[in-house]
Amino acid sequence: MEDCLFCKIINKEIPSTMIYEDDEIVAFNDIHPKTKTHILIVSKKHIDTIKGLKAEEGDGDLVGKMVLVAQHLGKEKNLDGYTLQFNVGKSAGQEVFHIHLHLLSNK
Ligand code: AMP
Ligand code: ZN
Repeated sequence: MEDCLFCKIINKEIPSTMIYEDDEIVAFNDIHPKTKTHILIVSKKHIDTIKGLKAEEGDGDLVGKMVLVAQHLGKEKNLDGYTLQFNVGKSAGQEVFHIHLHLLSNK
């Protein structure tokens, strides 16, 4: 999708600290970390918000995989506990309209 910041990061048109990539998902550090560890887990498929998920297109599995990537990174980074957060819609603080899961930890 043109003019989408995260699509550009996925396509490597904009640099990022890519720390994970598979066929469907990437993860990189948030540019303005709110906690010591602040990673964004992003689907390669462009979906604006959680509100736009389509069960019939398998998006439930995709979101499940995003959570499993969070679990993998938490284990890899030896995090004892962490917060996983989706901001859904402008009024909830969503700034980038391409679905992403925040992984936040103070370790
Ligand atoms: P949200 O408010 O849930 O849409 O989260 C968007 C997140 O993207 C914010 O925490 C920003 O700090 C982060 N962000 C914005 N631009 C970049 C970038 N170029 N690289 C990494 N993270 C970014
Ligand atoms: Zn996008």
